[in-house]
Amino acid sequence: MTLQEKDSQYLWHPYTQHKTAQTPIVISRGEGALLWDENNKEYIDAIASWWVNPFGHSNKFIADAIYKQLTTLEHVLFGGFTHEPAIKVAEKLLEILPKNQQKIFFSDNGSTAVEVAIKVALQYFFNKNEKRTTIIAFENAFHGDTFAAMAASGISFYTQAFQGMFIDVVRIPVPVKGQEKESFEALERVIKNHKCAGFIFEPLVQGAAGMVMYEPEALAKLITICRENNVLTIADEVMTGFGKTGKTFAMDYVSEEPDMICLSKALTGGTIPMAITTFTSAVFDAFYDDDINKALFHGHTFTGNPTGCAAALASIDLLQTTAMQDNIKRINTSHLLFQKKIEKHPKVITARTLGVVFAVEIKSDATESYYGSMRTKLYNFFIEKGVVLRPVGNIVYILPPYVMTEEQLQKVYATIEEAIEMV
Ligand SMILES: *Cc1c(COP(=O)(O)O)cnc(C)c1O
Repeated sequence: MTLQEKDSQYLWHPYTQHKTAQTPIVISRGEGALLWDENNKEYIDAIASWWVNPFGHSNKFIADAIYKQLTTLEHVLFGGFTHEPAIKVAEKLLEILPKNQQKIFFSDNGSTAVEVAIKVALQYFFNKNEKRTTIIAFENAFHGDTFAAMAASGISFYTQAFQGMFIDVVRIPVPVKGQEKESFEALERVIKNHKCAGFIFEPLVQGAAGMVMYEPEALAKLITICRENNVLTIADEVMTGFGKTGKTFAMDYVSEEPDMICLSKALTGGTIPMAITTFTSAVFDAFYDDDINKALFHGHTFTGNPTGCAAALASIDLLQTTAMQDNIKRINTSHLLFQKKIEKHPKVITARTLGVVFAVEIKSDATESYYGSMRTKLYNFFIEKGVVLRPVGNIVYILPPYVMTEEQLQKVYATIEEAIEMV
C-alpha cells in the first residue's frame, strides 16, 4: 500500500468529510517557508501551517534547544514540582506581555488556553459568591473546539451539532469600521440584561472568520465598558500573538489592558503543542484562600512540559532578533504594496493588511459558504501551483512564516492574482 492508501485506511483527519475530500498530500520534509511532498514537489507554506510556524520549518535553533532539554529533563509532573524552563518562560513572557499580566498558567493548545480562561472567569465570580454565568463573545468568533471554547465560537460550521448543550454565551457585533456604535451599544445592552462574567475576543483580527479586522480604539472602548461593569476581559491572542500583527501582541496596539490573555500557536514556533493563559494579580487573588475549594482545579498531564518550555524560550529569542523584526517589517511593506495594487481589481471587493496578515475578498455570484465551491476551486488551484493557502469562502488570506523570502512572497502574490483571474 502507498502512504496515501494507508492514510485513508487508518486515519481520521480534522475538519474533513472523508467521503468527498481529496486524498491528503503526503509531506516528507520542510525547511524555512518550503514544504516538499513524497514526490519532491515543492510548496510555499503561505499560512505558516495553520499560523503556528513563524520561524520556518525544521528550525535548527529551536531543534537544538529541544534536543538539549530532551536529554536533560523531558518532563516532570507540575503538581508539587517545578523547573527552570517553566520559570524562565514565565519571566520572559511577563517582561513582554501587557504590564498588568502577573501569573502564567500552562496547558496544551489554543482551545485549552481558552477553556482555562473561561473557567477562571466563571469561577472568579463563584469564589466571590456573585452569580455571573454569561460569557460575551463576538459574532463569527473562533476560540477553539473544546466545549467552552466552542460555545464562545460563532462560526456555525464548527458548532451546529452541539447547539443547546453550551454554557450561556451572548454575541455582540464586531466593531468593524462604521459599526463601532452598534457594537458598543450591544455590549452595554448585554451587560445590562445578563449576569456577565467575561468578554472574550480575538484582538484586532478575527482569524478563522477570514482575517476580519477592527481598530484598537474600538477594542479599548469595549474593554472600558467591561471594566466599568466588573466584567472580566479575555484577549484570545492564540493567532495574533508573537509578532503576527506587527507588534509582539495585538494588545500592544490597544490602550486598555485585558484581565487574561490566551497564547498558543506560535508560542513554540510550531514545534511542540503548548499553550499559556495569563492573568492579572486581581484574578489570581480571587482563588488565593485558606479554602481549598477556591483553588483552580484544572490541569493537564503535560502541563508545563519542560521540552515545550525550551521550545518557547528559543522561539521568543528568535522573535526578538533584529533579523526577525526586519522580516516582519519587510513582509508588511510588501503586503501594503500588493494590497494597493489588488484592491483596484474589478473582481476584488476589498483587501486588508495588519502586520504579516493579508486578506483579499473576491467577488462571487452566490454567497460563499465557509467550505463552498469557490473555496474548493481556489484551494485546488493554489495546491496545483505549489502554494499552500486555505481560503475561507471567498476570502484568500496570507499569513507567511516571517522567514519567507521576498521572492517566495512575490510568487504567492502572483499566484493569487492568477487565481482571481481564474474564478
Ligand atoms: C487556533 C485558534 C484557537 C484554537 O487553538 P487550537 O490549538 O487549535 O486548539 C483558539 N483561538 C484562536 C484565536 C485561534 O486562532
